[in-house]
Amino acid sequence: MKIAFFDTKPYDKASFEAHGKEKGITFKFFETKLNEDTVDLAQGYDGVCVFVNDTVNSEVIDRLYEMGIKIVALRCAGFNNVDVKHALGKLHVFRVPAYSPYAVAEHTMALLLTSIRRIHKAYIRSRDFNFSLSGLTGFDLHGKTVGVIGTGKIGKVFVDICRGFGMKVLAYDKFPDKRLDNGDTVRYVSLDELFKESDIISLHCPLTEDTYHIIDENVIEKCKRGVVILNTSRGALVDAEALLQGIKSRKVGAACLDVYEEESDLFFEDNSGHIMEDDTLARLISMPNVLVTSHQAFLTEEALNNIAETTCQNISDFFEKGKCENELCFRKNEVQDCKDGKCF
Ligand code: NAD
Repeated sequence: MKIAFFDTKPYDKASFEAHGKEKGITFKFFETKLNEDTVDLAQGYDGVCVFVNDTVNSEVIDRLYEMGIKIVALRCAGFNNVDVKHALGKLHVFRVPAYSPYAVAEHTMALLLTSIRRIHKAYIRSRDFNFSLSGLTGFDLHGKTVGVIGTGKIGKVFVDICRGFGMKVLAYDKFPDKRLDNGDTVRYVSLDELFKESDIISLHCPLTEDTYHIIDENVIEKCKRGVVILNTSRGALVDAEALLQGIKSRKVGAACLDVYEEESDLFFEDNSGHIMEDDTLARLISMPNVLVTSHQAFLTEEALNNIAETTCQNISDFFEKGKCENELCFRKNEVQDCKDGKCF
């Protein structure tokens, strides 16, 4: 099995080479992202392996199909960058539904603590032997209310972490897991109540038509003054311009973003020698109460190993057994994992 691997970073190679060898898979590592201009690099391969900012739209899918490519192996959980509906009947699309919910949930809490305890400011000060505490006053998390939107694998771990801090959790999910609701410290509520009552709001739902700009100008208006917004899920869940206005008007107390609406041409790359063209991102980053990391939440040794292991297993299952339980398909108008191999 020969797989064209797009958007390769140095940290991808070791784990994919090791797990690929075990399963008889050879990877050709391309640094470029997959898109309409680069798709022909996949000529002669059995499949492509892609990540969050590769483009797998209808044009790319049609070209892959023409070239006889059979599979798209996503090495991530989210699949908003793939036109799964268009791929149906042409390409088999697999994903890694879970690799380490702890990695993402722990990074979310790391961002929150860094932000509200001003660790990013203190770190820079003390490196300059400036041991003044002025301007570093934070607030306790204990007793605060956190609104968690999306209580799947990552959201649940984040809820657990927040409970450990003595926080009250208001949860919202399109498909609530009632076992999580204890009627006291963790309660499912309407989105409206969550927005109005939360001191901190954390996003852990996928990016879909329903959730696009789930945080926008109107929502920010409803929120408590000083609300902290955490987004480690997908950039377009938050209207970045509305967030910036919220920060400028002091309505939003702080924002921690591991993802950004227009991240695809910027994140994961060293842009330090370039003029930043994106004024909204530049202005957000310039704010003392905004923290931005570059889609880093998944990046732990455990997650990288699990991603490579499951991706190689997915590829091997498809070519050896003709089916893969992490294949994406349409059931009842929702994209779901296909547990029975009856996607086409
Ligand atoms: P999951 O599928 O286990 O959970 C997602 C939850 O969102 C589910 O409970 C689902 O019912 C809920 N949901 C779906 N539509 C919704 C809606 N309209 N409103 C509210 N809730 C809705 O997924 P997960 O593994 O917990 O991952 C969550 C998201 O985290 C992924 O979609 C991905 O975008 C993001 N992610 C980010 C990173 C990173 O490195 N920053 C890494 C992995 C995943």
